[in-house]
Amino acid sequence: MRIGVVSDVHGNAVALQEVLIALEDLAVDEVVCLGDVVGYGPHPGLCVDRVKAACSLTVAGNHDRAVAGPAILTRFNPVAAEALRWTAERVGDGEAAWLGSLPEEAAHHGGVLCCHGAPGAPNQYIDTPAEAAAALGRSPQPLALCGHTHVPAAMVLHPGGRGSDDWHPWPEGEPLEIRPEARVLLNPGSVGQPRDGDPRAAYAVLDLEAGAATRYRIEYDIESTQKAMARAGLPTSLIDRLANGR
Ligand code: ZN
Repeated sequence: MRIGVVSDVHGNAVALQEVLIALEDLAVDEVVCLGDVVGYGPHPGLCVDRVKAACSLTVAGNHDRAVAGPAILTRFNPVAAEALRWTAERVGDGEAAWLGSLPEEAAHHGGVLCCHGAPGAPNQYIDTPAEAAAALGRSPQPLALCGHTHVPAAMVLHPGGRGSDDWHPWPEGEPLEIRPEARVLLNPGSVGQPRDGDPRAAYAVLDLEAGAATRYRIEYDIESTQKAMARAGLPTSLIDRLANGR
């Protein structure tokens, strides 16, 4: 089974469209979404519809939960909270209910744990090798997928301590070997608001039979999303950051 992995779409339907077309071209069997379907971006309703239609499994991100239950808005920085209030006013009741119904984490039937922040900790940012190793250690599944940081990263641990105990390096386009007994944590990066200095939309493909994971980037019409954000009156800092991927 080949699983397309998307995360942190953040209401950017232009970027999502390019990624879904690319995953179709790669002939994946299924697509999973690691949360933050909405928030920051100008197309929340469209992104909910597209993710619902395209993904066999979606877990909740912190932005999704805030739109479904605005009481937690106080936990966000002012700019994120402003965009979330804008988002909450625009999604319909059905879309908000769907966002509120998403699980915090879920095991895909291929035996892969899908979560937003970290296994057992949906709001945790995994930034360091030590945090990644600890998260892998508490994952009930040997393969775990997470998002939330908007920075692609991988950790592969083979039995006997062999493998990469680093977290950030995961060269684009180069299949990462995953042996059957390995423990693996992968972050595909963000579709709609990358923060690793590369503004292109990020996604990944996990090939369970071949034992390989590959991450990809694809260009999208950033200006189109920025113009839609400007028309919506969303914060300028959120508009500007899309162009530099930070
Ligand atoms: Zn996010």
